[in-house]
Amino acid sequence: MDIGNIIKKAGLKVTPQRKILYGIMTQLGHGTIEEIIIKVQEENPDITVSTVYRILDSFCDVKLLSRINHPNGKSYFDITPSDHHHVIVDNELIDYSDPELTELIKQHLKGKMFENLDIDKITVQITANYKKD
Ligand SMILES: [Zn+2]
Repeated sequence: MDIGNIIKKAGLKVTPQRKILYGIMTQLGHGTIEEIIIKVQEENPDITVSTVYRILDSFCDVKLLSRINHPNGKSYFDITPSDHHHVIVDNELIDYSDPELTELIKQHLKGKMFENLDIDKITVQITANYKKD
């Protein structure tokens, strides 16, 4: 699907700025606001920082992107729409898909305080270091 259609399907108006930003996120996968702003302004210096923030917010509202809080204190935007977990090794953020783990957690939570809740999303964030030997 082309970028315009993805944005339209999510219920947003297709604008050149939104298309640029979404295209950049498909390249980055995960990006901090600083990284995204640099890339956007490389492509089009006329797009202001506040526009970038506004577009990212609108993408998050319609779930084209999600936000991840990295233990380094930075916030990342994540384009992968399907449910997935993250492994952080030496500051690097790696997608980790494990539907079995997600299901295990869901089953574990059933009958706890989640009885009356429909779980929307489960994201596990694992921090790790490479073994030194
Ligand atoms: Zn991710």
